[in-house]
Amino acid sequence: MKIKCPKCKKNAELSMDFSFVKCDNCDLDMSYGEYVKFIAHNEPTYSDILGDYTGSTEGQAAGSLDEWD
Ligand SMILES: [Zn+2]
Repeated sequence: MKIKCPKCKKNAELSMDFSFVKCDNCDLDMSYGEYVKFIAHNEPTYSDILGDYTGSTEGQAAGSLDEWD
């Protein structure tokens, strides 16, 4: 399936069995586990999607705004 390449932001290909990620645009070639770590590090917005991997911090982020007032 198509996913966003973490390096060049273009279309990369995730194998059907989730074993690897490849991108023709920048020659990215890594395992899915490496891919998950890579984007978790570089793109904080992915944390929600990857909650199972990184652990959810939603509770801390939400509600904190009220306390600033
Ligand atoms: Zn790429």
